Formats: sequence, structure tokens, C-alpha cells
Amino acid sequence: MQQLCETASQLMILNDEIAQTYSGYQNDRKLFCRSGCGECCLHPGIEASVLEMLPLALHLYEQGIAESTLEALQQHQQESCFFYQASSEDRKSGHCGIYPYRPAVCRMFGAAGYRGREGEVLLSICKVIRADEPAAVIAAELSLTIEVPPMMMNHKAKISQLDYELSKQNMPIKDAAAAALEKVLTKAWYAGMAV
Ligand code: SF4
Repeated sequence: MQQLCETASQLMILNDEIAQTYSGYQNDRKLFCRSGCGECCLHPGIEASVLEMLPLALHLYEQGIAESTLEALQQHQQESCFFYQASSEDRKSGHCGIYPYRPAVCRMFGAAGYRGREGEVLLSICKVIRADEPAAVIAAELSLTIEVPPMMMNHKAKISQLDYELSKQNMPIKDAAAAALEKVLTKAWYAGMAV
């Protein structure tokens, strides 16, 4: 259990760095997210690794709600992310219910670099930002020849260095959260047996 806690602490530090890197890039490039926008979170298929959900799982365990959350996750019918809390009728506005513990992938929402088939650097920009900030989008895409944006694969690689086994597979966020909770509950059970 102690090892899991140490890994989670290291990941939280890395998560902060990742969040600052991507929001810094978005601010510099004026690729601003619409205030209160929750469109990214409407997609239930966004994937994370079990490792990315480990800090949340440990937090829920400490709060004494690991089992109940696991049960709710297992029963959840996906129409958006399990953790999304919509605040408008069309569900397009809302917020993340686990914001401090959101996985790294969610810290890269908005605008992030990736490599194309030929190894070229490309920019993934969300459709809402594309609609709201067309001039900034063109400028950011033109800048790719002189500036490499934060690259998703580099940050994913840094995360996997913390624990290869727990980060080797990506799955929908709710499944990754459930797997992380199962891991924590199993470790806690064995730790209790050892006392
Ligand atoms: S974890 Fe939070 S930020 Fe990530 S998709 Fe779900 S609700 Fe959105």
C-alpha cells in the first residue's frame, strides 16, 4: 500500500506540471476554453490508464467511499464521463466532480501536440475552440514549423515511468477508475490481513 501511495504522490506532482504546461501553451496561443464548457467530458470513451486514476482511488479509500464508488461505477450506463456534473439542460456546460484528481489526459484537453503518420508534429484542437478562436487556431497551426507544442506522447511516457504495469493499458475513464479502486481495495485487504 505504501508503494501505491508513493507512486500516487509522484504522479500528483507530475500532474500539476502537465496541467501548467498545457494551460500555459493554450494561454500563450490564445486558444482559450469557453468558460464552464464541459463538452470534452460528454464523451464517455475518453481513455486513461489505471495509474492515472490511482490518486483518486486512494483519496476515495481515505474518505471511506471506495466500495460505494466502485459499485456506482460498475452500474453506470455511460452517456458521459461518470465524474461529469452537468449544469445546463443540454449538458454542454458543467464541471469535473473530481477536478484535483482528474487523470492526466484531461489536463491535456483543449490543445495538444501529437505525431502524424510521417512523424510530423500536429496539433489536436477541440472543436469548440476551433469555432470560438479561428484566428488563434490558424496562428497556432502555422507556428508548428517553429515551435513544438506540448506533446501528449511525451507526457504519457513520463507517467508510465512511474509504473509501467499500471500504465500500459488505456481504457475508458470509468473502467480505469474501477480497476484502480479494485487495486487499492485489494492492497488494503492484504495489508489488514498482515496486521
Ligand atoms: S475526469 Fe473530469 S475532466 Fe476528465 S472527462 Fe471526466 S469529468 Fe471531464
